[in-house]
Amino acid sequence: MTQTQKKQDNLETFDTDVARLLDIVANALYTNRDVFLRELISNAADACDRLRYESLQDENLLGDHSDLNIRILKDTDARTVTIIDTGIGMSEDELRDNLGTIARSGTAKIMEAMKDQKESGDLNLIGQFGVGFYSSFMIADSVEVISRKAGEDKTWHWSSDGRTGFSLREADADERTLLLPAARGTRIILHVKNDASDYLLEDKLKQIILRYSDHIDIPVYVGDKTDDETPVNAASALWTRPKNDITEEQYLEFYGHIGHVFDQPLKTIHWRAEGKIEYTGLLFIPALRPWDLYDPERKHGVRLYVKRIFITDSLDGLIYPWMRFLKGVIDSEDLPLNISREMLQHNPVVDKIRRGVTKKVLSELHTLSQKDEIAFDSFWHQFGMVIKEGLYDAAEHREEIFKICRFFSTHEENKLTSLENYISRMKDGQEEIYYMSGENLQSMQSSPQLEGFKARGIEVLFMTDTVDSFWLQNVMDYQGKKFTSVTKGAVDLDKFESTQKEDKEESEDTQKQKPDLENLLGAMQDILKDEVKTVRISSRLTDSPVCLVADDGAVDMQMERVLKIHQKYDPTEKTKVLEINPDHALIQKLNTLKADDPALTDAAWLLYDQALIIQGEPISDSSGFARRMAKFMESGL
Ligand code: ADP
Ligand code: MG
Repeated sequence: MTQTQKKQDNLETFDTDVARLLDIVANALYTNRDVFLRELISNAADACDRLRYESLQDENLLGDHSDLNIRILKDTDARTVTIIDTGIGMSEDELRDNLGTIARSGTAKIMEAMKDQKESGDLNLIGQFGVGFYSSFMIADSVEVISRKAGEDKTWHWSSDGRTGFSLREADADERTLLLPAARGTRIILHVKNDASDYLLEDKLKQIILRYSDHIDIPVYVGDKTDDETPVNAASALWTRPKNDITEEQYLEFYGHIGHVFDQPLKTIHWRAEGKIEYTGLLFIPALRPWDLYDPERKHGVRLYVKRIFITDSLDGLIYPWMRFLKGVIDSEDLPLNISREMLQHNPVVDKIRRGVTKKVLSELHTLSQKDEIAFDSFWHQFGMVIKEGLYDAAEHREEIFKICRFFSTHEENKLTSLENYISRMKDGQEEIYYMSGENLQSMQSSPQLEGFKARGIEVLFMTDTVDSFWLQNVMDYQGKKFTSVTKGAVDLDKFESTQKEDKEESEDTQKQKPDLENLLGAMQDILKDEVKTVRISSRLTDSPVCLVADDGAVDMQMERVLKIHQKYDPTEKTKVLEINPDHALIQKLNTLKADDPALTDAAWLLYDQALIIQGEPISDSSGFARRMAKFMESGL
């Protein structure tokens, strides 16, 4: 049977996503094509890792050939490069599913990203999202895969020209012998394109392996096997080597391998925990957040090894969800090897490792914040929102998390501050940490509610992330200082002196002859009774006549907005309080009007609507607002 006949026999079409991807790969002329080998070796190493793990439960899987290795052969005459591994292999269904579809969520997004890259001429994303196998079509015009799953007795042959589809059939006798002596694993035969002949040179292949795959702990050989052959790569797990023996380059390659990313990590943390529980950690904090960081389904990128044997890359309990940006490896000495993945889920040793890892990462971040403010701020910008989830998710680490939290504040525009620095600037007699929540920093900075605080030099933090509303609901204080919203409840600012001299005298002045506003408050309350819970005198205001705040017992106004979005809010409940500025000329003028004066009604409504607008809230009766506004303008002109 010829190759073409076989193909016609049972051609299956690629999943549409694969077809699109292959189209992009085929055009990847200007990308770094060397990465095809890295991708195939990485898959082969994973296959060996998986077999090693499976054989812990079932020794028979290894048979007489416990040797796990990867071999690269070239044949200049046949123009082929072949990658052979003695790993777990693939069954018929696995060949079809793994090499015929992209069984990942978010594939559409990957494709979008790739398309953009294609237009900009840079295709470095290939391989990044687990599309690794298909990168073989960058250098091959057709690919054959012969594979036999460990423990099964059938061998399969998959082949494709990387265009429309693939064919899949049982391997013939000749093909079966190609997997001997192990009689399992995978052999990938690349029929090298005319313009890719340099990959037929052994030296070139060796050089790529050294560059990209040195850290793989499965031995990789190039050429035919001789007895005293040594692997091309170091073939020892990178994290077990002494720190001083590892170059920046090697860390970087490993990061790329483990994280499927090719950027520079912001920080590399490599340490050995000794004591009751022993483990080695090699963790990376990426420089940029991945596109799916906020996806609730997103998993962390930390692999668990036990005594250098890969166990799983999806153990939830190993890393807190709010540290899901981490990538790397934890290798434990204290977990039993023959433990099932399910049993690991609630394992006390895993809990201890998680705690240790969390402490280590938080303390490294704290050190970074002290040593390199710019690097830390960039970390915070990328991952701060996720870290803050830990404030309610992991009370036992709260103090350490607070130490690295950063906020914008009224102290210095567009500059982040720590809570420690906030506290050092607190005024005499100030017992609370004041904050304001909102979505937009700019508009918050000019809020009327801040006027009184600014006049007295009292610093207010800006809480700009949605997550802030959640932790502020759960966390009452930091170092005994209560978090207090400036848009909620009554505040007594009069106990703090104004920092502006004249203001001070003025306020002493008005203290003496504070106008009686009781009647005005009553009248306004009456007019706005369906809108606000109460109208009262404010100490928050200096320049504006009025502002809105939330009632003491109610949620902060930003929280109210967040709850509305999540439809967990009862809109019939009145929680708004209108505060008026007793020193404002307009308020004093209104105070001279009679309660039944229609001008007072209009003014009360106008002031209330204005306060809503400043707050970024919709007003209920916009035509009423316009009518009153026109009336006042007319009388004013
Ligand atoms: P990824 O490695 O990110 O999953 P790839 O496209 O590189 O994506 O490979 C797809 C899948 O094909 C792998 O997840 C694996 O299940 C399977 N696979 C690829 N190469 C091998 C191999 N040499 N041995 C066993 N399975 C393999
Ligand atoms: Mg891969």
